[in-house]
Amino acid sequence: IIQLEGVTKRFGELTVLDELSFDVMPGEKLALIGPSGSGKTTILRVLMTLETLTAGHIKVDGDYLFHMKKQDALIPADERHLQKMRANIGMVFQHFNLFPHKCVCDNVTLAPVLTQGANPQAAKKRAMELLEMVGMAEKAKSMPSQLSGGQKQRVAIARALALNPKIMLFDEVTSALDPELVEEVLNVMRMLGRETDMTMLLVTHEMSFAHDFADRVLFFDKGRIVESGPPDEIFTNPKEERTKAFLRKVV
Ligand code: ATP
Repeated sequence: IIQLEGVTKRFGELTVLDELSFDVMPGEKLALIGPSGSGKTTILRVLMTLETLTAGHIKVDGDYLFHMKKQDALIPADERHLQKMRANIGMVFQHFNLFPHKCVCDNVTLAPVLTQGANPQAAKKRAMELLEMVGMAEKAKSMPSQLSGGQKQRVAIARALALNPKIMLFDEVTSALDPELVEEVLNVMRMLGRETDMTMLLVTHEMSFAHDFADRVLFFDKGRIVESGPPDEIFTNPKEERTKAFLRKVV
């Protein structure tokens, strides 16, 4: 459902993604792990079109993300194409990014109503279903400031789901949380993994969660994939020295 081909991203002199190529299968749960600064977050940001590419191509669900086909040539995507492509993907950030002056329910309905022209009544019904699913229906009228970090993050997940994406990106969604709140967010992700066929990419420092949850793990260093495989292989029997060294430090 996602194909990266020679994806390169530079910030000035710094090469953050270095001719990266990999595919993600429909429904796959993929964990991206690696040292700080290895480019994991940048991959998610590029997929959300929050960053452009320096070189390479990305296809999502068969269409180029940053390009459009015109006759036989590829031309840069216009805003309309980018908007259409963005609708495939939802993202949850480390720092929630809820709209602070909107109640929980409005946080979830705003984007469907404004960007997809959803009927406000229908959007509200759907929002309540999603809030129910993440265990936040009782807080629908609360303001974000009245919620714990774990609750905010569950609302952020419901908000991303409200646009019915095929692909969900999770960027270190538990790293800003107090330890006792981590599990409630991981449980929502486990539930999504079990009960939907969504493709899920997660950048995480929770190695035991990545182990249990992911179908495949990619280990990054310096903008390249050092090693990839099923979690059992990567976590219990890594082949590369760099992977071993990293896991010794974090596990
Ligand atoms: P972490 O686990 O710490 O979040 P990461 O693997 O997700 O690390 P990225 O956030 O993708 O790493 O960042 C990779 C590198 O790119 C870092 O060195 C970072 O400083 C740099 N970088 C990211 N965004 C920008 C930007 N907008 N301008 C300049 N440099 C950037």
